[in-house]
Amino acid sequence: MVLRNPFTTIIVTGVPGVGKTTVLTQVRSILDSKGKKYMVVNFGDYMFKVASSKGWVRHRDEMRHLPLMRQLELQEYAAEAIRLDAEKVLGEGDILLVDTHAVIRTDTGYWPGLPEEVVKNLRPDSIVVIESPPEVIVARQKRDPTRYRADLARVEVVKELLDMARLAAMSSAVLVAASVFIVENVEGDPSIAANRVVELAEKLR
Ligand code: ATP
Ligand code: AMP
Ligand code: MG
Repeated sequence: MVLRNPFTTIIVTGVPGVGKTTVLTQVRSILDSKGKKYMVVNFGDYMFKVASSKGWVRHRDEMRHLPLMRQLELQEYAAEAIRLDAEKVLGEGDILLVDTHAVIRTDTGYWPGLPEEVVKNLRPDSIVVIESPPEVIVARQKRDPTRYRADLARVEVVKELLDMARLAAMSSAVLVAASVFIVENVEGDPSIAANRVVELAEKLR
């Protein structure tokens, strides 16, 4: 069974609002300055394209409230589409970074963001878990007017999600022999986390 892509593959996870997308924007500029070839993809973008075209949702934050079988269908599509897109442009020595979630807080329980078929399709070398203190995450969620995270924006909810996110990341890592790498997103300076992700990418192969 194939466990690895030719290119280094890092899945970046963390609870909603912790700053994954922000950190990955910084990762892009660091990799640009180093002249590295890479792709940063947002897993939710792939899911949302299909979910909105089917008329299932109008906004990306509605997807975690869909029936689980619909979420599974979208996840499995996204994982395969991402790998096929990456295979078209990346080769040995290049880097794929996937912006996603190890666990989803759905209406019917915690749902794996990287269940077996999904993680085996993505074939990560490492799963990064981005973390910040729960109070800081809630403050970030509340400051961000571009998203609808009201179902999550409470310290007790985020605390439990942080625990589940680590457990979920390790569970998925076991399935594909990936490492789990925990990175703090320091308030006021997402480039600290971005540098740690880039250092990880450079050490994996
Ligand atoms: P989601 O999973 O919902 O997509 P996310 O983890 O991608 O969330 P972002 O959208 O990157 O989170 O960040 C959420 C908010 O927090 C944004 O308003 C962003 O500007 C802010 N933010 C991110 N990192 C930091 C940081 N280190 N210091 C201060 N604010 C930050
Ligand atoms: P994001 O912008 O990263 O929050 O992605 C938007 C939405 O896509 C999330 O809130 C989830 O509903 C969904 N999503 C992203 N990644 C996954 C995943 N691996 N499994 C299931 N749903 C996901
Ligand atoms: Mg994001």
